[in-house]
Amino acid sequence: MYRNAKNVGYYLIGQGSLAQLEDILNERRQKIAGPAIFFLDHFFQNQDLASKLPKKDTDLLIYVDTTEEPTTEGVDSYRDQAKAFLDGRTPCALLAFGGGSTMDTCKCVGNLLTNPGNSADYQGWDLVKNPAPYKIALPTLSGTGSETSRTGIVMNSAKNIKLGMNSDLTMFDQVILDPDLTASVPRNQFFYTGIDTYMHCFESLTGSYRNAIVDALSAKAIDLCKEVFLSDDMMEPKNRELLMIASFIGGMAAGFVGTVHPISAGLSMVLHMHHGLANCYALSVQEDIYPEQYKDFMTMMAKQKIDLPKGICANLTDDQFTALYEASIVHEKPLSNRLGPNFKEIFTKENVISRFKQM
Ligand code: ZN
Repeated sequence: MYRNAKNVGYYLIGQGSLAQLEDILNERRQKIAGPAIFFLDHFFQNQDLASKLPKKDTDLLIYVDTTEEPTTEGVDSYRDQAKAFLDGRTPCALLAFGGGSTMDTCKCVGNLLTNPGNSADYQGWDLVKNPAPYKIALPTLSGTGSETSRTGIVMNSAKNIKLGMNSDLTMFDQVILDPDLTASVPRNQFFYTGIDTYMHCFESLTGSYRNAIVDALSAKAIDLCKEVFLSDDMMEPKNRELLMIASFIGGMAAGFVGTVHPISAGLSMVLHMHHGLANCYALSVQEDIYPEQYKDFMTMMAKQKIDLPKGICANLTDDQFTALYEASIVHEKPLSNRLGPNFKEIFTKENVISRFKQM
């Protein structure tokens, strides 16, 4: 079976490219009379980004609460808000300004505007049937690759699983990469999120489910991440642009992950930890599985003076450790990608829990 891979529709890149949004949006407004819906990370609530956007009074602006990663309940409630505002009209565009959480929220709400039911109904592969409204991504944080990937990840607490709406229909139609938008990101967050690309790509390259194009893109994204994170200042303008490119390419590659992401998903589900930081903790206890990448990662953290305080699982109960194990081990495909079909013989309950205890 060969995967028929779709890429993102259009993209433009460069410092100041945000200025071209107005033209792109006007084209949409001429095609469809309905309003635009802007999804902005709540980080921008006290900043001047909204005032710089080509937003009309008749459009809707939603600040997405990214304190926690998107949940099924949260996505459903943003869908309700958008539906009530639209009152039957088709939006000319949905726009996302933020990192993975905001972009994924926009992608998932888009799917729910044209498909019946709730977000939990579409967690899985190719369950979305009807195309979403036109969507534009303007990443303000690099690393998750959400701008180019075909998934919108949502946490489902009822099922204790973090799972995406994986579908070609989830993808953005247009991406605008303006490195000016990442200038105000706090340093730690810039690192934790940016390194997500590095993780995706090395997990894919060290796995057993491969394809030549994914390998080529992953190798390039890894090179770019190393260039940025081994430089003197990861946040200088040139590096912010390189990391945007790495994230874009990494999302495009979107190969199968390995054992970092399942452990990370456990931390997100049970401790509500953000994805990028959770990945860092996950790799920090997998030197035996990814020795070379572990070493590089530690060097990059030291070079950028990023800390990863120990003791995050110090006061957890046995039930919480069991929940961490279960929310990790459920990701069978990634685990077998790295460890083979008998992954449960290596990642036993004791083995996995002892890793959490080392964090
Ligand atoms: Zn990731």
